Amino acid sequence: MDCLFCKIIAGEIPSAKVYEDETVYAFKDIAPMAPVHILIVPKAHLASVNEITPENSAVVAHIFEVAAKLAAEMGLAEDGYRVVTNCGAHAGQTVFHLHFHLLGGKKLKVEMC
Ligand code: AMP
Ligand code: ZN
Repeated sequence: MDCLFCKIIAGEIPSAKVYEDETVYAFKDIAPMAPVHILIVPKAHLASVNEITPENSAVVAHIFEVAAKLAAEMGLAEDGYRVVTNCGAHAGQTVFHLHFHLLGGKKLKVEMC
């Protein structure tokens, strides 16, 4: 499959890995928007939130566990951070492998739309 994040997970394209387990991979965003900007992705390819179903949704809960763990390890838990995913063109999704941005390390702008 011609998917950038599948290639990163497979080690075919280099990444700055910060966490990996059986179902989840996390790495530094190549163009950080905040002092901490990590992408947390399921290893199994899902294009976006549109493809989350009762059969595969457990990995999303696990991704949020990993987000909390990484945020704590990086000292973000007390001051706060953001976990966000973009779905489709109107949200500005550019890589069509489901991913969650973990952003923190500064006071983030509050812009919901
Ligand atoms: P989105 O716009 O929500 O689809 O987010 C895609 C993110 O992937 C952007 O923040 C990019 O900077 C990031 N990105 C693209 N290519 C790479 C790469 N090779 N390694 C790490 N992050 C990447
Ligand atoms: Zn993929």
